[in-house]
Amino acid sequence: MTKLNLNYHKLSGRPLFPEIEKRVEAMKQKQPHAVFLNLGVENGTQPLFPNVTAALTAASSEMGNKETFRGYGPCEGYQFLRKAIVAHDHKDFSPDEIFISDGSHADLADLQEIFSLENRVAVIDPAYPIYVETNVMAGRSRPLLKTGRYGGIVYLSCTEENGFQPELPNVHVDLLYLSSPNNPTGVALSRETLTRFVQFAKKNNAIIIHDAAYESFITSDAPRSIYEIENARDVAIEVRSFSKSAGFAGLRCSYTIVPHHLKVYDAGALHSVHALWKRRVETKTCGVSYPIQKAASALYTREGQQAIRDAMKIYAERAKTLLYGLKSIGYTVYGGIDAPYIWCKTPPKVGSWEFFDFVLENIHVITMPGVGFGQGGEGYIRFSAFAEPHEIQETLERFKRLA
Ligand SMILES: *Cc1c(COP(=O)(O)O)cnc(C)c1O
Repeated sequence: MTKLNLNYHKLSGRPLFPEIEKRVEAMKQKQPHAVFLNLGVENGTQPLFPNVTAALTAASSEMGNKETFRGYGPCEGYQFLRKAIVAHDHKDFSPDEIFISDGSHADLADLQEIFSLENRVAVIDPAYPIYVETNVMAGRSRPLLKTGRYGGIVYLSCTEENGFQPELPNVHVDLLYLSSPNNPTGVALSRETLTRFVQFAKKNNAIIIHDAAYESFITSDAPRSIYEIENARDVAIEVRSFSKSAGFAGLRCSYTIVPHHLKVYDAGALHSVHALWKRRVETKTCGVSYPIQKAASALYTREGQQAIRDAMKIYAERAKTLLYGLKSIGYTVYGGIDAPYIWCKTPPKVGSWEFFDFVLENIHVITMPGVGFGQGGEGYIRFSAFAEPHEIQETLERFKRLA
């Protein structure tokens, strides 16, 4: 008899995105003539850059030529890409500390498996659901509580009161998930916050998994990498992605930095996290396709870098329009400066889902209910600036009518 992994039974209901889809579909059935605006999107509106598609096409042609055809590549990624990444963005690392992956989703989900189930996990709240849910699936939590939080997980609240800068855990934890700039709050962690966490991890022999998927959107002086903080390479893994900065959501390419310095304990003995992750990658994956890695390496050219800056400018402009537009209508809003997301307070005593449904039904705007990102998101909805300018204008017009 096949028995199931009971940890899957601990998961709360339907995942966020299918639930949104279901509600939107139902509303479209109910109001077939309404024009819906989608301000809930998590990927860019700008297409791939011309030099990226050129690299993609050229590499695909190489694969169709007997002389230049390639089979399996290195599991951790081709040296040409790892070297380009180090040369441009991570000069203090060696190329073999960079692991190329088919999207940071997979790495954020899988990094936990090289660590013991006995580790206590702390997670920024609200946050991308993947950090908590993959630890629940693995068995690092107790069942879901009435509060909507999982037993055994330590939640690091990002609130209006603390400026969305989480406090340190007040209990022992071993593994911490941070994300800066954070999705959904759209707020980056300050140098002070990241420094406190790095010092905490160092003192407690804990490890930080830092999700930096939106680092390229930062316009303030917040750190773009956790490695800007002293000693971070002793305690942190950083996960980065081309999905948001360069429109790679549909191509799938990202990378994870696992420093040689990083160590994990086993009955007092020290082991290299890098060696463990490399072992895992070599066993479980076979790398990212050659054309995709060529496309990613085209980002590390003058043209590629300029195209990223141009795209970031476009999204920053749109985020600002949304942020100040909503503010002028009277909403309390955060984020938008270092990320393409605006974190908007719901009216008094109105919950996230309630406001999401109300907005969907009355002005046909699709947002994201904050509570979908954890209990810390209750009382908020999230807007995305990944929309066309006319859609943003129209959204603001419709919200004016609501007010
Ligand atoms: C979009 C996103 C990612 C990127 O995921 P990929 O798998 O690289 O496309 C990672 N973290 C957060 C918080 C995101 O919103």
